Amino acid sequence: MSEQVICIGCGVTIQTEDEKKIGYAPPSALERDPIICQRCFRLKHYNEVQDVSLTDDDFLNILHGIGQADGLVVKIVDIFDFNGSWLPGLHRFVGKKDVLLVGNKVDLLPKSVKHEKVTRWMKQTARELGLQPRDVFLVSAHKGYGMKEVMTAIDEYRNGKDVYVVGCTNVGKSTFINRIIKEATGKGNVITTSYFPGTTLDMIEIPLDDGSALYDTPGIINHHQMAHFVDKKDLKVITPKKEIKPKVYQLNEQQTLFFGGLARLDYVSGGRRPFVCYMSNELFIHRTKREHADELYERHLGELLQPPRKSYCEQLPPLVAHHFTLKEPKTDIVFSGLGWVTCHEPGAQVIAYAPKGVGVMLRKSLI
Ligand code: GDP
Repeated sequence: MSEQVICIGCGVTIQTEDEKKIGYAPPSALERDPIICQRCFRLKHYNEVQDVSLTDDDFLNILHGIGQADGLVVKIVDIFDFNGSWLPGLHRFVGKKDVLLVGNKVDLLPKSVKHEKVTRWMKQTARELGLQPRDVFLVSAHKGYGMKEVMTAIDEYRNGKDVYVVGCTNVGKSTFINRIIKEATGKGNVITTSYFPGTTLDMIEIPLDDGSALYDTPGIINHHQMAHFVDKKDLKVITPKKEIKPKVYQLNEQQTLFFGGLARLDYVSGGRRPFVCYMSNELFIHRTKREHADELYERHLGELLQPPRKSYCEQLPPLVAHHFTLKEPKTDIVFSGLGWVTCHEPGAQVIAYAPKGVGVMLRKSLI
């Protein structure tokens, strides 16, 4: 497009090339007057928000805008990928504003897990990462679990002010907001879109009863998420859809677990012990002797060891080794976006492999 066209709904520059990116409108929409982007169109006509993603610079702009505005920030994370879906810079921008931290997709955790324990863990981890949320919630936006409590808290803490919902792509932010729209407004066509006042930000405004608004910000891409390293079909395999059934492996020293062909855990030393894997039930886990692991990977990546599927193997970055000594009891070895492996006793030496660029880390056990 040679001439810049602006969406009358949210103020973003319209583009017709990439459906996933901000400002997309199908070419036919350019013939209409006024012109609005697909995201505003869906909100206006179906009361549904659609997630689009931002570049890092756009993200900084948005954070900056939120930093200057007055209101409540609702930060959504994916409880299955807590660290991978954390927005690291947020606390520097929010200043003294109240933040509510919402862990979505709680339906994926085993039913036996105590929610109070997880929220305590979230509070502590948030603090360690520099954020002091006023309160912490666990919800399943998909199933509707916990939504009433969050909505009540939002209403209480916003104190008549605006609300900004932030989160990186894939945390379920659209599902969350769509749920709020449904629960709060029923079916009536009360949603409007409007230009975010005083800035060039492309937020979507959902009016609240008292004249203030809830703002949906576009999803932010966290580059180290596994989701960016696999194609759509494989993403379906590694994204859990229902309650995770932990798989326990009693490993001897010098044994290896392959998680499809996307990650690998070598147990180097520490005596025979259990490793508990929390990953998508559909992800194939293969155990082998460590001495055979390299050869197995070379020969069977994309076949026995998949995802990735054969046709996608070449695009997968090489696996990189991360060496850890587990010093604390109850430690999770986290493969960002793929899940984690819990080791209950300290003293193990492990090597965790993931594609170059994917986050791998240790943390105090979530469960
Ligand atoms: P957004 O990119 O943050 O707007 O995320 P979406 O709302 O598009 O959701 C991303 C993915 O997470 C989709 O596959 C959703 O079906 C899924 N999802 C959203 N909320 C939940 C939830 O509460 N539980 C589970 N298991 N999946 C969810």
